[in-house]
Amino acid sequence: RSGSAVSLADLPTVSRRSFPLCMHNMHAKLLETKHLKHSARQQFGLFLKTIGLPKRLSCEESTAFFRAEFTKKGMAADKFMRDYGYGAPPLHRLGKRQDWSAMSCGKIINSSTPSIVSSLLGANAAAGEHHGCPFRNYDEGQMRATLQQMQVGAQDVQYILDKVRGQHYQVACGKFFEARHKGSTLIETDLGGINHPNQYFEESQKFFAP
Ligand code: SF4
Repeated sequence: RSGSAVSLADLPTVSRRSFPLCMHNMHAKLLETKHLKHSARQQFGLFLKTIGLPKRLSCEESTAFFRAEFTKKGMAADKFMRDYGYGAPPLHRLGKRQDWSAMSCGKIINSSTPSIVSSLLGANAAAGEHHGCPFRNYDEGQMRATLQQMQVGAQDVQYILDKVRGQHYQVACGKFFEARHKGSTLIETDLGGINHPNQYFEESQKFFAP
């Protein structure tokens, strides 16, 4: 089915099944902590926009989605609106701007990472930062645990960790796709691995289409 069919009700299932690790991670952190910092809101919001969600959401609905998540942990609704009302979910606002498009893997990988922010601003600056590419940002232990939690087999875990050590993050992501979509051959057909989070998402949607 096409990406434009994604609705809010579908989001938890679609995230688990078809989001690349970067977007799945930010969605999981939003659900867990009820908050995403600016870079993650922008990265995740742009992605949600381009998979079709905002086409089905009014300005009020998209604000309500983020407000509902943010306020579950106790943030007062009026504080959310004061601090984030128009800035948090770029979902409805970005449609007016032609230059806004979801970021490519290259841009995500090369943009400032939580660890770079941390080194520039101090040891704790990265706390709570969840944007960026996990293949680039996670340490080896965190990556191994994440892959195991997502039921990636031992051989594929090893392959992915080898590619990460060699800084071939997009190839590692391609193998992650294959491991999560049994029988697909993304790496064989695309030696560069994943180029864009939307490519991952669209290939996954095609794979699971009836
Ligand atoms: Fe996301 Fe691209 Fe990194 Fe995969 S390689 S996790 S799609 S940024």
